[in-house]
Amino acid sequence: MKLSISNLSKTYKNGVKALDNVSIEIESGMFGLLGPNGAGKSTLMRTIATLQAPDSGSVSLDEIDILNDKNSLRKVLGYLPQEFGVYPKMSAEELLHYFARLKGIANKDERTKMVNTALEVTNLLEVKNKSVAGYSGGMKQRFGIAQLLLNDPKLIIVDEPTAGLDPSERHRFLNVLREIGTNHIVIFSTHIVDDVKELCTDMAIMNGGRILSHHTPKEAVKAL
Ligand code: ADP
Ligand code: ADP
Repeated sequence: MKLSISNLSKTYKNGVKALDNVSIEIESGMFGLLGPNGAGKSTLMRTIATLQAPDSGSVSLDEIDILNDKNSLRKVLGYLPQEFGVYPKMSAEELLHYFARLKGIANKDERTKMVNTALEVTNLLEVKNKSVAGYSGGMKQRFGIAQLLLNDPKLIIVDEPTAGLDPSERHRFLNVLREIGTNHIVIFSTHIVDDVKELCTDMAIMNGGRILSHHTPKEAVKAL
């Protein structure tokens, strides 16, 4: 699977050029997009997730022209935004069952299997009966991933997932990403060099709306 981003540009109404002719190709594995605040990372991720249109450029996932075929994209993409939602006072397990039902999984056994797998991969089995509203920031982030996994996406995009997490929560979260990176394309953005160092098989550095460098997996390890 290959995500091809070609010549994306975006200037906001206030004149800020958030994407300046961005082109990059991303293949399977764990891709880290490293850059300081304001680099354009969120804009790039929202654009790939088709939540926001660029002024120009294109994005394709294998044969799918993402920006013009949103329906196909929704079937393969999972996007976790930087600010996660407000959750009702339901347990993680109840909420995931609810989301699985919304997805149209009518069979209870099938739903249970799906929910348990998502809870297991995200390391939430032990707290599955606790209210998500009362979860810590890191647990909520992991719950966000659990929710994405219900849709069985091929491509997972996570925007600054470790921002604001304490060291132990951060490690737990990175371990979850590492696990899902073995069978998904995972793109995550961060301003923390160590996140990329610990996780990525591929990386790019972004600043001022531009990709400054893109390293192949082998080079990436050396570059950091
Ligand atoms: P990030 O950590 O990704 O840089 P920001 O704190 O810059 O996030 O932005 C948070 C939200 O505010 C985003 O939805 C972003 O689109 C919006 N935003 C950021 N900068 C501006 C701006 N100058 N004018 C309007 N909205 C903005
Ligand atoms: P990052 O995620 O790397 O912090 P962003 O994509 O959030 O970068 O922002 C890139 C630049 O665009 C920043 O200067 C930010 O303030 C600006 N920006 C982001 N969203 C908006 C918006 N909705 N309106 C105006 N400016 C924005």
